[in-house]
Amino acid sequence: MSYQHQYSDGTKIHFPIGKVVCIGRNYAEHAKELDNPVPTEPLLFIKPGSCVVPLEGGFVIPTDRGAVHYEAEIGVLIGKPLSTKPSVEEVLDAISGFAPVLDLTLREVQAKLKEKGLPWEIAKSFDGAAVIAPFVPASTYADLTHIDIRLTINGEVRQDGNSSVMLNPIVPMIQYMAGCFSLQAGDVIFTGTPVGVGALNSGDELILELPGASSFTSRVK
Ligand code: ZN
Repeated sequence: MSYQHQYSDGTKIHFPIGKVVCIGRNYAEHAKELDNPVPTEPLLFIKPGSCVVPLEGGFVIPTDRGAVHYEAEIGVLIGKPLSTKPSVEEVLDAISGFAPVLDLTLREVQAKLKEKGLPWEIAKSFDGAAVIAPFVPASTYADLTHIDIRLTINGEVRQDGNSSVMLNPIVPMIQYMAGCFSLQAGDVIFTGTPVGVGALNSGDELILELPGASSFTSRVK
């Protein structure tokens, strides 16, 4: 695997690829579209570093396990260790960058696991399940509660969200996550997906953006 974190100006970021810590159902409208209850406390899961691939240049999806859904999300690169109850200042200081990312999900596999109350890894952590674009520096945003995320597929906007409507905003979310699992430089936070998820197909042309900050084109190989 050739993935290495990098900034959108092409500079390599010399952090190891760590884990990807994800939050589920962090936008009420998305929870509703999948008939899920809106959670009363954050729903976390982890994708291992082995499933991380770069967005640019195109990416492959599994073709033998049912529908593969895209979930466009705001990705946050962690650049310093965080554990047990970090302060707001410590969290802000540890954030190294932001990128649009795709949390790929084998939706039919996940639905069966959910029915049985089983863990989600085989639906969420397959090779290639975490697609990450280059990062813009943390200094790009003065206000983390107003970051846009947008995904366009084959010329049609499918997801268009903003961090202002997250149930768990970015900083408190990372404080909570760090209390559950130590975060290390090179880890990436996937902050949840807005409404509009759907299936990806081979040949789809994608534009994945943090509007106003970065924009990338890619395709499903
Ligand atoms: Zn997600």
